[in-house]
Order: sequence, then C-alpha cells, then structure tokens
Amino acid sequence: MTTATTSPPFDLAAYKPLDNATLAARIQAVRDQLGTRLLLLGHHYQQDEVIALCDLRGDSYQLSRMAADSGDCRAIFFCGVHFMAETADILANRPEKLASRGGERVEVYLPDMKAGCSMADMALIEQVENCWEELGEVVDTHDITPVTYVNSAASLKAFCGRHGGIVCTSSNARAVLDWAFAKTKRVLFFPDQHLGRNTAKAMGIPLDEMPVWDPYEELGGNSEEALRASRVILWKGHCSVHQMFRVEHVAQFRTKYPGIKILVHPECTMEVVDAADISGSTGRIIREVQEAPAGTQWGIGTELHLVNRLQQEHPEQEIHFLSPVVCMCATMYRIDLAHLCWSLENYAAGTPVNRIDVDPDTAHWALVALERMLTVSAGKAGG
Ligand code: SF4
Repeated sequence: MTTATTSPPFDLAAYKPLDNATLAARIQAVRDQLGTRLLLLGHHYQQDEVIALCDLRGDSYQLSRMAADSGDCRAIFFCGVHFMAETADILANRPEKLASRGGERVEVYLPDMKAGCSMADMALIEQVENCWEELGEVVDTHDITPVTYVNSAASLKAFCGRHGGIVCTSSNARAVLDWAFAKTKRVLFFPDQHLGRNTAKAMGIPLDEMPVWDPYEELGGNSEEALRASRVILWKGHCSVHQMFRVEHVAQFRTKYPGIKILVHPECTMEVVDAADISGSTGRIIREVQEAPAGTQWGIGTELHLVNRLQQEHPEQEIHFLSPVVCMCATMYRIDLAHLCWSLENYAAGTPVNRIDVDPDTAHWALVALERMLTVSAGKAGG
C-alpha cells in the first residue's frame, strides 16, 4: 500500500492535495486488507464520494444498531458526526457484546474530530444539570422525565439514564413521550425544541404548556407560574440545517407545482411541519419516496445530500429541494476522503488517530437510557 509519508503516524496535510480517485483507491486498499474486521458507516447526509465507499448507509441510530450487530467487526469508522460515533461505541461495546468477544472492544473512530453537531452543542451537560437544579426549586423533579433526542452527547444520554429518563429518535418520539407521561406529569426535552414541540403538539398538548428553556437566562427565561403549568419544557436548541426551511418556501412550491407533496423532517419548525403534508424521520422520508407512484411531485425539506441522492436514485419521481438556499450539514461535510484515508491508513499502520472512547460510567448510564427506548419502541429507528 502506498502511504502519504514514509513512516507512520501519517500527516493529514499530505493527504489534502490528493485527488479523489487516488484517495478512493487507497481507502479501498485498506478495506481489502482488513476485510470484515473493518466497518465503514455512512450517514444519509454524507457526501456521495464517502457513501460510495461505506459498507452501510443509514440514519444515526440505524447505523449504530447495525454496527452493534456486526459479528466480525473490530474497528468502526463512523462517517457522521461525534455523537453518532459515541452511540456506536456504547452499543457495540455493551456488556453482553463484550462478553461474547471475550472482552475485546470494537474501536470506533471519527475521521475528523471537528465533525460535531451544532444542535448537540446547544445543550452542554453543565447547562442541563443547572437547569435540573433550578427546576427543582420550583417543581418536584421526581415528577419530570428527562428525554434526550438521540442527536445529543453521551453525557446527556447518561443524565437521562441516571434520572429515570430516556432517549428518543425522530420516529419514536411520540411513543417515548407517551411512556414518560405514564409515569410523570412533566417532560424536560432536549436538545431540539422543534422535535419536542411538533411531537407534543400532535399529542394535543397546548403550546402554552410548553415553555422554552433558555440556558443563558435565569429559570430558563420563564416565570415560576409558567414552569408549574408546564407539561413539556423545551430546550432552546435547534438544527441549523432544518431550521432554514420556511413556510414561504412551502407556499412558493405549492403555487409553482399544484398537487406537490411537501415532505419534511420534524426538526423543521412547527410552522413548516404544520404546512407540510407529511412530517417524518429520515427513514420515513426515504420510504415515502420509495413507495410513491411514479411521477409524484415532492418538495422535500431535509438535508441537501440526502435529497440529491433521492433525486438520483428515483428518476421516476419529480423531487425538489424545499429551499432556494443550500441547507447542508456543514459539520458532516467535514468527513471527506482525505480525512477518511488518513485515519484508515494510520489505523492500518498501528498508529490510530481520532478514537472515540466513551468513559465507562457515562457509557453505562447512557446505555440505560438507550435500552429504555428500545423497550418502548421495540427498536424503531430514526434521527
Ligand atoms: S443535520 Fe442538524 S442535527 Fe443532524 S448532524 Fe447536522 S446539525 Fe446536527
């Protein structure tokens, strides 16, 4: 195998000038060398050159489940963002899996450590802990279930595990909220206010019972009365990609293409979800397109790379991207062939870089919250 520098660890700078064909060939060489011990996972929002080299494609939770179920694999390269790699590390190394491998861990790598998620970064564990403490001065926290969207740091999932809470995905959020309300009066939902609001609204919870918690304000910017009257306390976080879709875009597409079906992700604002025909997880969006009669016109409000791929893979459908501006996940886009090749060749040379290794206590409690979700939803995925 040709490498970028003469001896490991190899320097990323040497990979950046290489063209995609060279990088793809070298990535393939590592795949051939390591065989089934290596698993490359690609999120649906990932760029096409990367997806072409991945073993599996899916949403964040599907990918982690696939990784956890893969028998021979000993190294996962997650072409997604940081929280996804953390979830893969937790699920692939849960106690029964570790025992079945005689204690051998599956190592998880993120080709670029700067591939984070702006939504996940809007809820820091210190802020959530402060929120919980402040809420405890106004209402009984034993009567609150913390719910975190799977798009969050492992520390937040662990917080939910420790406090009787749970993880949700965009496809099982409703079932998770039903579970939470069967045991407590209130829910603290983070980090995505839109998924929380859209889900709770569809369950008939009035908007005035859903205050927004701003972590930079005292009591989250709320009165004690508002918090006492609350059912769902929504964290002030959002996806910068999905929040860019607007109701004006929906109206423009309906005018231009009468009969068009508007299909959006529930991370979009309530106004956009209300104006759409269908709102659903990444998996549901793909299914709706796959199962529609040929010639259906679609206006799709989700990440650009996924919509472009749906256009390529479904030429029998008329698919439009539901925005005049580019809405792409810039952090996911950081994982390019240069980073993937650099991290793979270092791994193959015995000088691994960018390992994601969740500490045991965080992994334990995050798994508690993830397993509660599995019990509730019987493994429905999304995200
Ligand atoms: S699309 Fe939004 S929620 Fe998903 S990884 Fe990117 S910033 Fe995060």
